[in-house]
Parts: sequence; C-alpha cells; structure tokens
Amino acid sequence: MSGQAPAQAGEFDFIVVGGTAGGLLANRLSADPANRVLLLEVGGGDCYIWFHVPVGYLFLIGNPRVEFVLFRRGPLTMAPSQLGLFAKSDPRFSTANAQFHVQPLSLDKFGEPLGPFAALTASVCNLRPTSRGAVRLASPDPLAPPEIDPNYLSTDEDRRVAVDSLRRVRRIVGQPALQRFKPEKFRPGPALHGDEELVRAAGEIGTTIFHSFGTARMGLADESMAGVDVFLSVIGCEGLTIADASVMPMITSGNTNFPVLMIAEKAAELLLSADRKALAA
Ligand SMILES: Cc1cc2nc3c(=O)[nH]c(=O)nc-3n(C[C@H](O)[C@H](O)[C@H](O)COP(=O)(O)OP(=O)(O)OC[C@H]3O[C@@H](n4cnc5c(N)ncnc54)[C@H](O)[C@@H]3O)c2cc1C
Repeated sequence: MSGQAPAQAGEFDFIVVGGTAGGLLANRLSADPANRVLLLEVGGGDCYIWFHVPVGYLFLIGNPRVEFVLFRRGPLTMAPSQLGLFAKSDPRFSTANAQFHVQPLSLDKFGEPLGPFAALTASVCNLRPTSRGAVRLASPDPLAPPEIDPNYLSTDEDRRVAVDSLRRVRRIVGQPALQRFKPEKFRPGPALHGDEELVRAAGEIGTTIFHSFGTARMGLADESMAGVDVFLSVIGCEGLTIADASVMPMITSGNTNFPVLMIAEKAAELLLSADRKALAA
C-alpha cells in the first residue's frame, strides 16, 4: 500500500507498522483479499543520489553497487561472513555460548574501507550476555532519537566470556593447518596477553552486530518488565499487537532475522485465528 494517501484507520482491518516482521505480517494478513491491510513503513528510501540524477551513471561505472545490480558480479555478490561457528567459550557451558563470524577481510570498524593487507577477522558474539543496557527518552520531542546505552561488558561473566573467546580464536589461528599463511595477530596485538589487557581490548574493539531485541519483551501480565503477553498483545492496550525482535525475552542463539520472521508468522496466525488462545499454547 506504500505510496497511497493515508486513509482513515477505520477503513482497514489491520494497520501494520514495521520493517522485517511488518512486511511478512502484512503479506500474510493480506493473502485473503477480504482483509484490508495498511502497511506503514517509515524507514529510509533509496538514498544513493546518483541513481536519481540523469548524468549520474558516469559516477556508477566501476561502482560495486552497480556491478551487482546490473551484472550480478563484483564484491557485493560475496557474503562478508563466509564461515560461521558456534562454540563454548569455556567447557563449563552446557551449550554453545559464542557465535563466530569469520570474514576474509579486515577493517577498522563497520562502514570503513578495508585494511591494506590480506587478513581474516573472527568476530565473536556472546550469545548469553548478562550485561543489561537501557534505552531512554532523550527529550519530550517524539522525533528526537532516544539515548541508547548498551552497557557492554559490565558484568564479570561477560568480561570472562570475552577473554576466553579471544583466547579461543588465538588457539584456532595457531593451529598447524593455518601456519603456511604465517598469521600475525593484529588486533588485539601480540603484546596483549593478560585478562585485564584482553578485556580492555575487547571493550575497545567490541561493537554491536545489530541484533537488538527485548524492548517490549514477552512475559506474564504481572511481570514488571513485560511489554506484551503470550498472545503478543500489548499489556494494558486493547487491539495493539507487537510482533518483531522487541518481544524476544532473551536473545536467540544466533542471528535474529529468521526468528523475527517466525514471530511474524506466529502473529499472523494469531491475528487471523478466532481462537487465539489455543494457537498461542
Ligand atoms: C546492519 C544490520 C545487519 C544485520 N545483519 C543480519 C544478518 O546478517 N542476519 C540476521 O539474521 N540478522 C541481521 N540483522 C538483524 C535483523 O535485520 C533484525 O533482527 C531484524 O530485521 C529485526 O526486524 P524487526 O521487524 O524487529 O525490526 P525492523 O526490520 O528494524 O523494523 C522496525 C521498523 O520500525 C520502523 N520504525 C521505527 N521507528 C518508528 C516509529 N516511530 N514509527 C513508525 N515506525 C517506526 C522502522 O522504520 C522499521 O521499518 C542485521 C541488522 C542490521 C541493522
């Protein structure tokens, strides 16, 4: 429904606001043409200006984006993380608590150019973080961005996992099979060994892998931090359902996109079912 003039809410059976989950949910809800569905998406549009300027094509020659869009070749045909691994950072864990993304490249941070040397980067994600961050309103202005404080590595447990994971990466890269490539530690550098040094390095290198979740977590109605109940209904607000990563009570043991799509599938079932309670069980 994108691009149409906004209509009165009463003209629709479902008004869906959202991105990943919202797209799937709107698709499922509108499969039956009897359902009138409005999808509102406030995300950014195509912000690459040269695509919209007549002589802009001159700037597109040799551009990886164009190579991909027109010819399906070039660096954008390659996934950055070509190897994944789930492992225990320490044998005391009963299941894998660390997810490794291994990339055949190195860069200072996301969005920066690649490093000027051949490299591999093994980023390790703590799948059971115990640090808790906060999202706060920064201003009464609803359009002002909120303050987001991830509060990474604020527990002993998370610092321990970071140190153990860094050492595990070093053990893997130190295996005989890789020695013909003469690997050298780049970051954290070879001089850093002790727990404290490695924790500090983890804090300096560490960043998000964009798997935000839990700001409207599912829980029982009398639970203090619960945003939605087991039917995905916003607690205390009739007719409003949340179905996206924000309802996850804890992070999934891996990437979040597919779990979000599954939440949307479940929400579609619930919303289309007369017997929501039976389905949620
Ligand atoms: C850079 C990046 C890389 C990622 N890579 C992967 C990956 O490789 N694999 C993987 O599994 N997951 C990945 N993820 C995570 C995955 O994309 C997300 O978990 C998933 O898309 C979340 O879906 P969602 O529906 O919860 O939220 P979103 O898809 O983010 O949708 C939220 C929507 O809400 C809209 N919105 C925000 N504020 C308002 C407002 N005030 N009013 C109305 N609408 C609003 C936004 O425009 C957006 O459309 C990545 C995320 C990012 C950012």
